[in-house]
Amino acid sequence: MAKKQERRIAVLLVLALALAMLVFSRAREAAPRPTPRADGVELILPPREAGAETPQVYDDLPELDISSWEYLLVNQAHNIGRYAPEVEQIAGTSSYFDVRALDALNALLQAARDAGYTPHVYVGYRSYVIQSQQFDRQVTEFLNQGYSELDAEKAAAEIVAEPGTSEHQSGLGVDILDRYTETLSGFEMDANFAAWLRENCVTYGFVARYPEEKISVTGRYEPWHVRYVGAVAAQFMTEHDLALEEFVALYR
Ligand SMILES: [Zn+2]
Repeated sequence: MAKKQERRIAVLLVLALALAMLVFSRAREAAPRPTPRADGVELILPPREAGAETPQVYDDLPELDISSWEYLLVNQAHNIGRYAPEVEQIAGTSSYFDVRALDALNALLQAARDAGYTPHVYVGYRSYVIQSQQFDRQVTEFLNQGYSELDAEKAAAEIVAEPGTSEHQSGLGVDILDRYTETLSGFEMDANFAAWLRENCVTYGFVARYPEEKISVTGRYEPWHVRYVGAVAAQFMTEHDLALEEFVALYR
């Protein structure tokens, strides 16, 4: 009798263990991905359009998860909606930056100071809401000048990035100037600092995001704007002279 009971308990134990393992593996499958994503935001590029140029093949293309936050592409063609990373204030400034890249930014700023410069963070993170307000203000200005609603929006988009299309919303783009300025319009950046920034930002995982020779790809020339992409990608993009648009396209 006691033997029978023992056997029954053993069978029950095995069954319970199997059930626990099944539940555990299901739970792991259902676990959310570690990358925070805003509602409906696809962090990778849409599929390549038919007939688009085939990107060059690189033997040394790093193996990485292109949908990870460091490679988030933001531009007029790739609106990130209300994407909002966790940000923290950049010490000594009124600007914020993605917490995951803040140490790298501080190291870059310190390196600039060590090199004898006095870098000024003009702006880091800019939220969807702030971007919307800036855009709306510009639209209103054109409406007041007698533009139609459609024309006002078009004209505004040429001056202020539409909400969801500014790289500053990613929390990974930052404008670093050689000195304080109230506004960027007409601002002349010190050529020595611009050259220093471009060359040295790579060491800290940043790239010059809008260099002059990439205007045809990015549509902008902003020598003060650097973007965090992590050390591996920064190195590769710099070595092969690739804009972020071109780099991300290699993984499609
Ligand atoms: Zn910028």
